[in-house]
Amino acid sequence: MEISAVIPIYNEEGNIPQMYKRMSDVLSQISSEYEIIFVNDYSKDSSLSMIKELAKEDNHVRYISFSRNFGHQVAVSAGLDYSKGKAVAIIDGDLQDPPELIKEMYEKYMEGYKVVYAKRSSRKGVSIFKKIAYKSFYRILDKLTEIKIPLDTGDFRLIDRVIIKHLQEMPERNKFIRGQIAWIGYKQTFVEYDRDPRFSGETGYPFSKLLKLAIDGITGFSSKPLKFASSMGIIVSIFSFLVIIYALISQFVYNSPLRGWTSLIISVSFIGGVQLITIGIIGEYISRMSTDIKKRPLYIVEENTETEEEEK
Ligand code: UDP
Ligand code: MG
Repeated sequence: MEISAVIPIYNEEGNIPQMYKRMSDVLSQISSEYEIIFVNDYSKDSSLSMIKELAKEDNHVRYISFSRNFGHQVAVSAGLDYSKGKAVAIIDGDLQDPPELIKEMYEKYMEGYKVVYAKRSSRKGVSIFKKIAYKSFYRILDKLTEIKIPLDTGDFRLIDRVIIKHLQEMPERNKFIRGQIAWIGYKQTFVEYDRDPRFSGETGYPFSKLLKLAIDGITGFSSKPLKFASSMGIIVSIFSFLVIIYALISQFVYNSPLRGWTSLIISVSFIGGVQLITIGIIGEYISRMSTDIKKRPLYIVEENTETEEEEK
């Protein structure tokens, strides 16, 4: 198998036919040894039956279907585990990432790059608020982490099998694949593209999922928030020490004690806030450790191309 495409699918019934057509066109131009892998992340629409239909008609198409919604990053991981190609493309199922770009990526891949990621020079059809949020997230992440995670890139990329092997050696349950790939290293390069708006349907990434992905990215690749917690502790201690001296001097030297309620309530609520924030930061790391320690399977496959064939 020369090349595989891994496509996570969550309620993409309006995109699948177009996706299949454009992807088959592109991959068949690269090699006749290609496969298109759809990973159905428990779609609520008719995505799964459409995928099954395609797999029946065309044996270049394979699929996995999860027993529940495990999320985009896990769907991509599962697709990578299931893929057989020497080179594997990861691409969203909503046609925001043009499949045609894979040809250009493949040319770079043939020059010897192990990772060719797609860098977004513009985003169409995204609200100003989301644009600012994305832009600032990538820049904050860059400041926080020691590894260089490329700015303004998603998971749309072409990777070599050796990268998949290393990804499989990384045990974390809360995946942040673009960070993991940056961490792995090797010769990496990029191609630029304009990101299209979603072809059909709605985003499967509400704010809560985006926030989780952002925190996974930060906690997975940086311990700076923990250091921030301890420096905040030191700063607050120094400040409160100064306040203590001030209070004692006004009490005993000037005989005019500070008035009670205002100063008390300010310091109590301030310290309370600082403590909750730092506990929260520690909690984020501990909750991820606890998921890792449990070592549950990353995903559960309810059915795939092979199980379907056995039944026949
Ligand atoms: N997706 C998924 N599971 C989810 C949410 C999304 O597999 O729980 C898939 C979705 O079908 C798409 C990709 O992940 O192929 C990116 O999601 P989406 O386009 O909704 O995110 P956005 O581009 O709006 O950030
Ligand atoms: Mg999308």
